Amino acid sequence: MLVITTVKELQESVRKVKADGKSVGLVPTMGALHNGHLSLIKRARKENDVVVCSIFVNPVQFNNPEDLRKYPRTLDRDVEFIHDYADIVFAPSAEEVFPVPPTETYHYGVVEQVMEGAARPGHFNGVGVIVRRLLDWVQPDRAYFGEKDYQQIAVIRELVRQCNISTTIVPCPIVREDSGLALSSRNRLLTAHELEITPNIYRILQESKNQPDVPEIKHFVETEIAKYPEFQLDYFEVTDDTTLQP
Ligand code: AMP
Repeated sequence: MLVITTVKELQESVRKVKADGKSVGLVPTMGALHNGHLSLIKRARKENDVVVCSIFVNPVQFNNPEDLRKYPRTLDRDVEFIHDYADIVFAPSAEEVFPVPPTETYHYGVVEQVMEGAARPGHFNGVGVIVRRLLDWVQPDRAYFGEKDYQQIAVIRELVRQCNISTTIVPCPIVREDSGLALSSRNRLLTAHELEITPNIYRILQESKNQPDVPEIKHFVETEIAKYPEFQLDYFEVTDDTTLQP
């Protein structure tokens, strides 16, 4: 496995691979890798000759400076973790990715106006900024994204459509703990008590399916979540799976 930090090395490595007629799969991540990330990498490995995994905590997609400061960074461990599955790891510095502060802005239409788009101003623009650059540098045949970030996939599909990018976007299923908690790098920041109660989120979502209609589902989830003073609900929506509108 090759670990590289510059865009030039990345482009050169990919160029060589493509000159040999090999296909390339890209898995963009922010590191602190877990089995959710690994499932994307394994899928990419199955469907492509060469797998590139990027590890970069993208400052531009954080709308909360405290969240950026606390975000777990475990590069050495990450490299070891995916050693047998990825061919190229691209782990650049912020200066390498952004020699000057980025100024591009993306508009994705209705899919960005709800949920995470509404709750985290600028977040999806930051996602577009980094994903566009990675797609441009690697020009992969396929790029892999987790359904844990379902709205992100909708945004990236729109980005690819608007910019005429030929990469196929491959959505991958959510990987969960046995408890039902979705794996996430930020789970490392949870206390033992928090880890104990978080499986209730998935349990409540599952149980909400027994409600007869959308208003009842929303009422059920809001009421059940409110039973835990530790939880604060940002939003709960039932939406169309393509337009993401209620
Ligand atoms: P992140 O490092 O959190 O930016 O995630 C990188 C990619 O891995 C994104 O496409 C995520 O949706 C995906 N991902 C993260 N956690 C999971 C999970 N538990 N199951 C499936 N995909 C995931």
